[in-house]
Amino acid sequence: MKLENLNQCPICNSIKIFKVNNIKSKIKDVKDAFDLMKCQDCLHRFISKIPNQIELNKLYEIDSPLVFGGTNYELNQKKNFIKNNFENIEPQFNHWIFDYIDQNQGSYLELGPGLCRLYKTFYLKGWKCQGLEQRSFIKINGIKKDIKDIENNNDVVAAIDVLEHLVDPIEMLKKINSKIKKGGKIFLTYPHSESFKSKILKDRWSMVSPLAHIHYFSKKSTKIMLEKAGYKILVIKDYSFVELRRLIRNSIKLPIFILKDILKLNFKNIYYRFIELFLNILDLINGDQLKVIAKKK
Ligand SMILES: [Zn+2]
Repeated sequence: MKLENLNQCPICNSIKIFKVNNIKSKIKDVKDAFDLMKCQDCLHRFISKIPNQIELNKLYEIDSPLVFGGTNYELNQKKNFIKNNFENIEPQFNHWIFDYIDQNQGSYLELGPGLCRLYKTFYLKGWKCQGLEQRSFIKINGIKKDIKDIENNNDVVAAIDVLEHLVDPIEMLKKINSKIKKGGKIFLTYPHSESFKSKILKDRWSMVSPLAHIHYFSKKSTKIMLEKAGYKILVIKDYSFVELRRLIRNSIKLPIFILKDILKLNFKNIYYRFIELFLNILDLINGDQLKVIAKKK
């Protein structure tokens, strides 16, 4: 596959970019081919080389391990999805995006609906649903591969954990913009480059995984990207996948685990347990994900 070196920031176009470090990938075909880069102006992080979007789409189409971890968990999820019908997909009525939608019904467009849980929820609520998805095994009513087949005038668009996978997120946001009603809302989530986990762990941050993730956004790069694509930001905040309740529960059990480690003379493990606890506490303060809500101008 042909890869192009990036010599400027893909979001703000600044040439003040520098290498954070080399990415050591567990994927055999990737290994150490990519560097983790950072833009000094907008604090966006990105991988040093990118394919073109057409070639990248092909990898998604066949579910290549280059873009999907290919872990047993992911393979099982895929198997279950293919086996089950649309009726068996579990909806997510408590998804946070419903806290920000005041209309009861309308037209909904989702980028990369994946296993379609949110998509199914909108469907059950009576919304007219359309989706844009490259992976071939996802065959559900309303889901298309080409944006040209998507109808205009949507009220709500969601791209949950999607933009970090694209070569050019600004271009995609512009295309989507033409599919939204004026005043319609877009909901986005993606990895947060200015989080503690990103800054401390660098390429060891679990979000850094070429060729699946290409971009890691800051609040500043988010603002620049959405401004360029014709949106006005309504909400932008960081959040964490760490659950406070689980963290407290695990912390209470920690002395028992440490005692076990001591008995096994596994001191390295004790060290890792403290690091993990420390990082999870930091993540609750400045989460490694961003959620963004914006309005079409
Ligand atoms: Zn930049």
